[in-house]
Amino acid sequence: MCVVDRGSDPKGTHSVPRVAMLGGTFDPVHLGHLRSAVELHEALGLDRVHLIPAHVPPHREAPGVSSAQRLAMLKAGIGDTSGLVADDRELRRDGPSYSTDTLASLREEFGQQARIVMAVGHDAFLNLTSWHEPARLFALAHVVVIDRPDHLSPLPTALTELIGDREVDTVRALLATPAGGLLRLSLPSRMAISATDIRQRLIDGRSVRYLLPEAVEQYIQIHHLYRQ
Ligand code: ATP
Repeated sequence: MCVVDRGSDPKGTHSVPRVAMLGGTFDPVHLGHLRSAVELHEALGLDRVHLIPAHVPPHREAPGVSSAQRLAMLKAGIGDTSGLVADDRELRRDGPSYSTDTLASLREEFGQQARIVMAVGHDAFLNLTSWHEPARLFALAHVVVIDRPDHLSPLPTALTELIGDREVDTVRALLATPAGGLLRLSLPSRMAISATDIRQRLIDGRSVRYLLPEAVEQYIQIHHLYRQ
């Protein structure tokens, strides 16, 4: 596990693009996503983190809120945050939103030498072997796992086998190559915030203040989302 302290800054000069994707349902986007993305951007010295809402999530029921509205909340939540972009590329494809297709499109856009990172929270990582073409994910990108204080389960055997000897323990070692590595990161502001809890709070009429950006809370109110 690579512990990132508040002084870490591997930025420096780099000639090839360094880009990360953080995919998800973002139903709705919250401060756990956004703060992780900002800290990932800093910790890896990235050019940009693309937050990419899944149009048709392959691993779960269709969200109750449309992709267009989840994207609108993501845009509102990101606002003018430097280094983060709301990326709609999965909304422009039909069929299940497979991460391999998304990474292939990032690879095409940024080139074979680009350092491309797929960031996932620990909970999502635990299910990686059930994703579409899991080995191909590593052919296209590095995988960076973000520690979540609310998800601490150990790795299943099949996942350990998939990882093999890919794991490295520094950012420098990871970014020495364009793809294929695995880094587990403990970011400074680990937040036990989940969209499931936020949706339940909204259904119950309880407060969601300070769990998500104010602009997202306002969007939810104006559009009467997540009410029973
Ligand atoms: P839900 O509760 O509906 O499952 P979620 O809060 O886990 O949603 P997703 O949109 O499914 O949010 O997550 C997108 C990605 O962000 C996943 O890789 C997930 O693990 C990660 N993630 C979500 N919440 C956090 C958090 N608090 N800290 C770090 N990573 C997170």
